[in-house]
Amino acid sequence: MLKVDGIDVYYGNIHALKGVSLEVLEGEIVTLIGANGAGKSTLLKTLSGLLKPKQGVIQYENQSIVGKQAQTIVKAGISHVPEGRRVFSNMTVEENLELGAFVRKDKEVQKDIQKVYELFPRLFERKGQLSGTLSGGEQQMLAMGRAIMARPRLLLLDEPSMGLAPIMVKTIFSIIEEINETNGTTILLVEQNAHMALSIAKRGYVLETGKVVLTGSAKDLRESDEIRTAYLGG
Ligand code: ATP
Repeated sequence: MLKVDGIDVYYGNIHALKGVSLEVLEGEIVTLIGANGAGKSTLLKTLSGLLKPKQGVIQYENQSIVGKQAQTIVKAGISHVPEGRRVFSNMTVEENLELGAFVRKDKEVQKDIQKVYELFPRLFERKGQLSGTLSGGEQQMLAMGRAIMARPRLLLLDEPSMGLAPIMVKTIFSIIEEINETNGTTILLVEQNAHMALSIAKRGYVLETGKVVLTGSAKDLRESDEIRTAYLGG
Protein backbone atom coordinates (compact mmCIF):
# COMPACT_ATOMS: atom_id res chain seq x y z
CA MET A 1 0.00 0.00 0.00
CA LEU A 2 2.77 2.41 1.01
CA LYS A 3 6.36 2.13 -0.08
CA VAL A 4 9.01 4.59 1.00
CA ASP A 5 12.40 4.22 -0.61
CA GLY A 6 15.53 6.08 0.39
CA ILE A 7 14.04 9.44 1.36
CA ASP A 8 16.15 12.35 2.54
CA VAL A 9 14.44 15.25 4.27
CA TYR A 10 16.07 18.48 5.41
CA TYR A 11 15.05 21.47 7.51
CA GLY A 12 17.43 24.06 6.06
CA ASN A 13 20.77 22.35 6.53
CA ILE A 14 19.54 19.96 9.24
CA HIS A 15 19.45 16.49 7.71
CA ALA A 16 16.41 15.01 9.51
CA LEU A 17 15.78 11.81 7.49
CA LYS A 18 18.71 9.98 5.94
CA GLY A 19 17.81 7.43 3.31
CA VAL A 20 14.73 6.11 5.10
CA SER A 21 12.94 3.14 3.53
CA LEU A 22 9.87 1.36 4.82
CA GLU A 23 6.82 -0.48 3.66
CA VAL A 24 3.26 -0.77 4.95
CA LEU A 25 0.99 -3.48 3.57
CA GLU A 26 -2.76 -3.12 3.32
CA GLY A 27 -4.54 -3.98 6.58
CA GLU A 28 -1.46 -3.85 8.79
CA ILE A 29 -0.71 -1.88 11.91
CA VAL A 30 2.94 -0.89 11.61
CA THR A 31 4.72 1.06 14.30
CA LEU A 32 7.62 3.44 14.07
CA ILE A 33 9.45 3.81 17.35
CA GLY A 34 12.40 5.93 18.34
CA ALA A 35 13.67 8.47 20.84
CA ASN A 36 12.99 12.21 20.82
CA GLY A 37 14.28 13.86 17.69
CA ALA A 38 14.79 10.60 15.78
CA GLY A 39 12.68 11.92 12.89
CA LYS A 40 9.38 10.12 13.45
CA SER A 41 7.15 13.18 13.10
CA THR A 42 9.23 14.35 10.14
CA LEU A 43 8.49 11.08 8.36
CA LEU A 44 4.72 11.38 8.92
CA LYS A 45 4.75 15.01 7.79
CA THR A 46 6.57 13.97 4.64
CA LEU A 47 4.04 11.23 3.93
CA SER A 48 1.14 13.63 4.29
CA GLY A 49 2.69 16.22 2.00
CA LEU A 50 3.63 18.84 4.62
CA LEU A 51 7.32 18.35 3.88
CA LYS A 52 8.99 17.41 0.62
CA PRO A 53 11.88 14.96 0.41
CA LYS A 54 14.98 16.12 -1.38
CA GLN A 55 15.56 12.60 -2.66
CA GLY A 56 13.79 9.28 -2.70
CA VAL A 57 10.50 7.74 -3.64
CA ILE A 58 7.13 7.55 -1.86
CA GLN A 59 4.56 5.33 -3.52
CA TYR A 60 1.02 5.04 -2.26
CA GLU A 61 -1.05 2.43 -4.07
CA ASN A 62 1.61 2.27 -6.78
CA GLN A 63 1.55 6.00 -7.51
CA SER A 64 4.16 8.55 -6.53
CA ILE A 65 2.87 11.09 -4.01
CA VAL A 66 6.09 13.11 -3.75
CA GLY A 67 5.35 16.78 -4.36
CA LYS A 68 1.57 16.35 -4.15
CA GLN A 69 -0.38 18.84 -2.07
CA ALA A 70 -1.53 17.78 1.39
CA GLN A 71 -5.19 18.08 0.37
CA THR A 72 -4.67 15.83 -2.66
CA ILE A 73 -3.05 13.25 -0.41
CA VAL A 74 -6.02 13.34 2.01
CA LYS A 75 -8.34 12.84 -0.95
CA ALA A 76 -6.27 9.87 -2.04
CA GLY A 77 -6.99 8.26 1.34
CA ILE A 78 -4.20 9.20 3.76
CA SER A 79 -5.18 11.00 6.98
CA HIS A 80 -2.68 12.35 9.50
CA VAL A 81 -3.37 12.88 13.19
CA PRO A 82 -0.50 15.17 14.17
CA GLU A 83 1.35 15.21 17.44
CA GLY A 84 -0.29 17.40 20.06
CA ARG A 85 -3.79 16.68 18.68
CA ARG A 86 -4.61 20.02 17.21
CA VAL A 87 -8.37 20.48 17.38
CA PHE A 88 -10.20 23.70 16.60
CA SER A 89 -10.66 24.90 20.20
CA ASN A 90 -13.42 27.42 19.52
CA MET A 91 -15.56 24.91 17.70
CA THR A 92 -17.69 22.18 19.18
CA VAL A 93 -16.87 18.51 19.00
CA GLU A 94 -19.45 17.98 16.27
CA GLU A 95 -18.23 20.95 14.23
CA ASN A 96 -14.70 19.53 14.35
CA LEU A 97 -15.99 16.20 13.04
CA GLU A 98 -17.86 17.91 10.23
CA LEU A 99 -14.66 19.71 9.24
CA GLY A 100 -12.89 16.37 8.99
CA ALA A 101 -15.16 15.53 6.07
CA PHE A 102 -14.35 18.68 4.10
CA VAL A 103 -12.67 16.78 1.28
CA ARG A 104 -15.70 14.56 0.72
CA LYS A 105 -18.53 15.16 -1.65
CA ASP A 106 -20.85 12.31 -0.68
CA LYS A 107 -23.95 12.62 1.49
CA GLU A 108 -23.00 10.17 4.21
CA VAL A 109 -21.27 12.63 6.52
CA GLN A 110 -23.98 12.49 9.20
CA LYS A 111 -23.94 8.71 9.10
CA ASP A 112 -20.18 8.68 9.61
CA ILE A 113 -20.45 11.12 12.52
CA GLN A 114 -22.75 8.59 14.20
CA LYS A 115 -20.15 5.88 13.54
CA VAL A 116 -17.47 8.03 15.18
CA TYR A 117 -19.77 8.43 18.20
CA GLU A 118 -20.16 4.65 18.39
CA LEU A 119 -16.41 4.30 18.39
CA PHE A 120 -15.97 7.12 20.92
CA PRO A 121 -19.08 7.30 23.15
CA ARG A 122 -17.33 10.02 25.16
CA LEU A 123 -17.45 12.32 22.13
CA PHE A 124 -21.18 11.74 21.77
CA GLU A 125 -21.73 12.81 25.37
CA ARG A 126 -19.76 15.98 24.64
CA LYS A 127 -20.79 16.73 21.09
CA GLY A 128 -21.91 20.29 21.86
CA GLN A 129 -18.91 21.14 24.03
CA LEU A 130 -16.19 23.52 22.84
CA SER A 131 -13.19 21.39 21.93
CA GLY A 132 -10.70 23.56 23.78
CA THR A 133 -12.33 22.53 27.07
CA LEU A 134 -11.99 18.77 26.47
CA SER A 135 -9.45 16.75 28.47
CA GLY A 136 -6.24 15.65 26.75
CA GLY A 137 -7.58 12.15 26.16
CA GLU A 138 -10.86 13.48 24.78
CA GLN A 139 -8.97 15.80 22.44
CA GLN A 140 -6.96 12.81 21.21
CA MET A 141 -10.24 10.98 20.53
CA LEU A 142 -11.56 14.00 18.66
CA ALA A 143 -8.40 14.36 16.59
CA MET A 144 -8.68 10.69 15.64
CA GLY A 145 -12.41 10.97 15.00
CA ARG A 146 -11.86 13.97 12.76
CA ALA A 147 -9.22 12.08 10.76
CA ILE A 148 -11.60 9.13 10.32
CA MET A 149 -14.22 11.48 8.89
CA ALA A 150 -12.07 11.76 5.77
CA ARG A 151 -12.62 7.98 5.29
CA PRO A 152 -8.91 7.19 5.15
CA ARG A 153 -7.54 3.89 4.01
CA LEU A 154 -4.21 4.72 5.63
CA LEU A 155 -4.19 6.48 9.00
CA LEU A 156 -0.99 8.12 10.26
CA LEU A 157 -1.02 8.52 14.04
CA ASP A 158 1.64 10.64 15.73
CA GLU A 159 2.15 9.69 19.39
CA PRO A 160 -1.46 9.20 20.41
CA SER A 161 -0.37 8.20 23.94
CA MET A 162 1.53 11.39 24.63
CA GLY A 163 0.72 12.94 27.99
CA LEU A 164 -2.18 10.61 28.74
CA ALA A 165 -2.87 8.67 31.92
CA PRO A 166 -2.26 4.90 31.59
CA ILE A 167 -5.97 4.06 31.60
CA MET A 168 -6.63 6.51 28.75
CA VAL A 169 -3.65 5.12 26.83
CA LYS A 170 -5.26 1.67 27.06
CA THR A 171 -8.59 3.04 25.80
CA ILE A 172 -6.96 4.84 22.88
CA PHE A 173 -4.93 1.79 21.88
CA SER A 174 -7.91 -0.52 21.97
CA ILE A 175 -9.78 1.94 19.74
CA ILE A 176 -6.84 1.98 17.31
CA GLU A 177 -7.13 -1.81 17.09
CA GLU A 178 -10.87 -1.53 16.58
CA ILE A 179 -10.46 1.00 13.74
CA ASN A 180 -8.04 -1.42 12.09
CA GLU A 181 -10.24 -4.47 12.56
CA THR A 182 -13.67 -2.99 11.91
CA ASN A 183 -12.94 -0.51 9.14
CA GLY A 184 -9.97 -2.40 7.71
CA THR A 185 -7.98 0.83 7.97
CA THR A 186 -4.22 0.42 7.59
CA ILE A 187 -2.32 2.21 10.36
CA LEU A 188 1.17 3.66 10.68
CA LEU A 189 1.63 4.43 14.35
CA VAL A 190 4.45 6.62 15.64
CA GLU A 191 5.13 6.03 19.32
CA GLN A 192 7.61 6.57 22.10
CA ASN A 193 5.60 4.09 24.15
CA ALA A 194 7.26 1.09 22.49
CA HIS A 195 5.63 -1.37 24.86
CA MET A 196 2.07 -0.39 23.93
CA ALA A 197 2.88 0.13 20.25
CA LEU A 198 4.48 -3.30 19.86
CA SER A 199 1.55 -4.91 21.66
CA ILE A 200 -0.89 -3.93 18.87
CA ALA A 201 1.39 -3.70 15.81
CA LYS A 202 2.19 -6.49 13.43
CA ARG A 203 5.59 -5.11 12.49
CA GLY A 204 7.81 -2.25 13.50
CA TYR A 205 10.67 -0.01 12.47
CA VAL A 206 13.14 1.66 14.81
CA LEU A 207 14.40 5.09 13.85
CA GLU A 208 17.57 6.61 15.32
CA THR A 209 18.91 10.02 14.31
CA GLY A 210 17.13 9.95 10.98
CA LYS A 211 17.94 6.36 10.01
CA VAL A 212 16.10 3.06 10.21
CA VAL A 213 18.33 0.92 12.43
CA LEU A 214 16.11 -2.09 13.00
CA THR A 215 12.98 -3.65 11.58
CA GLY A 216 11.07 -6.85 12.16
CA SER A 217 7.89 -8.43 13.43
CA ALA A 218 6.52 -6.91 16.63
CA LYS A 219 7.28 -10.18 18.40
CA ASP A 220 10.94 -10.20 17.31
CA LEU A 221 11.36 -6.55 18.23
CA ARG A 222 9.84 -7.13 21.68
CA GLU A 223 12.33 -9.93 22.25
CA SER A 224 15.38 -8.14 20.86
CA ASP A 225 17.98 -7.16 23.47
CA GLU A 226 18.57 -3.84 21.77
CA ILE A 227 14.92 -2.85 22.01
CA ARG A 228 14.52 -4.16 25.52
CA THR A 229 17.44 -2.10 26.77
CA ALA A 230 16.77 1.09 24.84
CA TYR A 231 12.98 1.23 24.64
CA LEU A 232 11.36 -1.23 27.01
CA GLY A 233 13.24 -0.46 30.19
CA GLY A 234 15.50 -3.56 30.23
P1 ATP B 1 9.69 13.54 19.15
O1 ATP B 1 9.42 12.16 19.61
O2 ATP B 1 10.48 14.34 20.15
O3 ATP B 1 8.51 14.25 18.60
P2 ATP B 1 10.60 12.89 16.46
O4 ATP B 1 11.26 11.56 16.31
O5 ATP B 1 9.21 13.01 16.00
O6 ATP B 1 10.77 13.39 17.95
P3 ATP B 1 11.16 15.06 14.65
O7 ATP B 1 10.19 16.00 15.23
O8 ATP B 1 10.82 14.41 13.37
O9 ATP B 1 11.54 13.93 15.70
O10 ATP B 1 12.55 15.81 14.51
C1 ATP B 1 13.68 15.25 13.84
C2 ATP B 1 14.83 16.27 13.83
O11 ATP B 1 14.49 17.38 13.01
C3 ATP B 1 15.15 16.84 15.19
O12 ATP B 1 16.53 16.97 15.30
C4 ATP B 1 14.47 18.19 15.21
O13 ATP B 1 15.13 19.11 16.04
C5 ATP B 1 14.55 18.59 13.75
N1 ATP B 1 13.41 19.45 13.37
C6 ATP B 1 12.10 19.13 13.45
N2 ATP B 1 11.32 20.13 13.01
C7 ATP B 1 12.16 21.13 12.64
C8 ATP B 1 11.99 22.44 12.10
N3 ATP B 1 10.79 22.92 11.82
N4 ATP B 1 13.10 23.16 11.87
C9 ATP B 1 14.34 22.67 12.12
N5 ATP B 1 14.57 21.44 12.62
C10 ATP B 1 13.50 20.68 12.89
